Amino acid sequence: MPDTTVKHDELLASRQQYLGPTLSIAYDEPLKIVRGVMQYLYDDEERQYLDCVNNVCHVGHCHPRVVEAAQEQMAVLNTNTRYLHDNLVRYAQRLCETLPEELSVCYFVCSGSEANELALRMAKTQTGGSDVIVVDGAYHGNTSSLIDISPYKYKGAGGAGAPPHVHEVVMPDVYRGPYRDAATAGEQYARHVLDATVQANERGTLAAFFCESLMGCGGQIVLPDDYLAYAFEHVRQAGGVCVADEVQVGFGRVGSRFWGFETQGVVPDIVTLGKPIGNGHPLGAVVTTQEVAASFDNGMEYFNTFGGNPVSCAVGLAVLDIIEEEGLQEHALAAGNRLKAGLARLQERYAAIGDVRGMGLFLGVELVADRDSQEPATDLAKRVIEDMKDRGVLLSTDGPLDNVLKIKPPLMFSQLNADLVVKTLDEVLTDLAPEAPK
Ligand code: PMP
Repeated sequence: MPDTTVKHDELLASRQQYLGPTLSIAYDEPLKIVRGVMQYLYDDEERQYLDCVNNVCHVGHCHPRVVEAAQEQMAVLNTNTRYLHDNLVRYAQRLCETLPEELSVCYFVCSGSEANELALRMAKTQTGGSDVIVVDGAYHGNTSSLIDISPYKYKGAGGAGAPPHVHEVVMPDVYRGPYRDAATAGEQYARHVLDATVQANERGTLAAFFCESLMGCGGQIVLPDDYLAYAFEHVRQAGGVCVADEVQVGFGRVGSRFWGFETQGVVPDIVTLGKPIGNGHPLGAVVTTQEVAASFDNGMEYFNTFGGNPVSCAVGLAVLDIIEEEGLQEHALAAGNRLKAGLARLQERYAAIGDVRGMGLFLGVELVADRDSQEPATDLAKRVIEDMKDRGVLLSTDGPLDNVLKIKPPLMFSQLNADLVVKTLDEVLTDLAPEAPK
């Protein structure tokens, strides 16, 4: 039954009274979402919305098999990893089977931030260093040491800039960045990583290069071909560890591959997993090589009270089963291609669409006030989001200029859903920004 008991303004007032003021809320008129079914959310008046932005509920909101797996295990046992348990070992094995064979040792945590925090500790132990190379626009998590390596935060409102041990490289953005020739951009952007390795080893000792396999908060950026191959080579030559942050894009979302880094033809030393891994259940993981795992085993136990508990592992196993049995990776490719093609057709008709990019069901639409100067259309992006919501489609904006519509729906998002998003965006742009390209 829809929960209509507390009125919106009362809820908003209580929220402001009892919750920290750093909590943001979506939309001018906030939504009260009371239930979710697969790619749809429902508000307190039973209005249906197509959720195009939740990459956490990867196999669908409240997928019955995930719910059942959690309920069943929760009714039997939920404890920590200090006892033998089938789920823990089965899940670790299943996860490793999805990864290149070098990545064969798992650690379970409760969020993407915990995964990156652990990866950072591992890289420091492996190298004896503490210097980190990060990509401009990146976000890696909410802890103090991850804010320090997240330009999205340390350069944003309230941020204090990069600390001395952090070496930032230019975002490999072929739309807006300094190198735009797809054939050579990967190598050119990676030269900045080479320079950063030199700086890091002059100042201290390079520990790690952290890179999202496709960038989320940076604005749905697809790395140019070979970027990671060159960058990883430079980092390894300089003694550093390569960390692929797959928190946003892993588990088949990019369609052509199960993992984002595979689209770059590389094998990282550490991968970090979160968001979609538990379909909304707080689960995360780090998977690494035997070598990194051995150096991290320096006598100090790594214990995580909730990480790897039998309920989390049951949920994680159900998610992997569903992706495989429902063919969701292949589905993401087909639905994503259809959506991207539809958005590209809109780009031919609306000058405001400067760029359409992405892979599978991880897409971005960059809005500009002028295609030549690339002046960002940040206000327009905000209005588009509001109007799309009024017409039943949930999206949000991102990117350093906050002018990129981000699209990353649950993976069963259908071809019909794709057509609906294109049609609705067409209507909204006709109202808000009808000019055709010159
Ligand atoms: N890495 C990336 C790329 C992310 O997008 C996020 C969350 N937006 C995180 C790490 C942190 O994950 P969590 O919020 O689960 O701690």
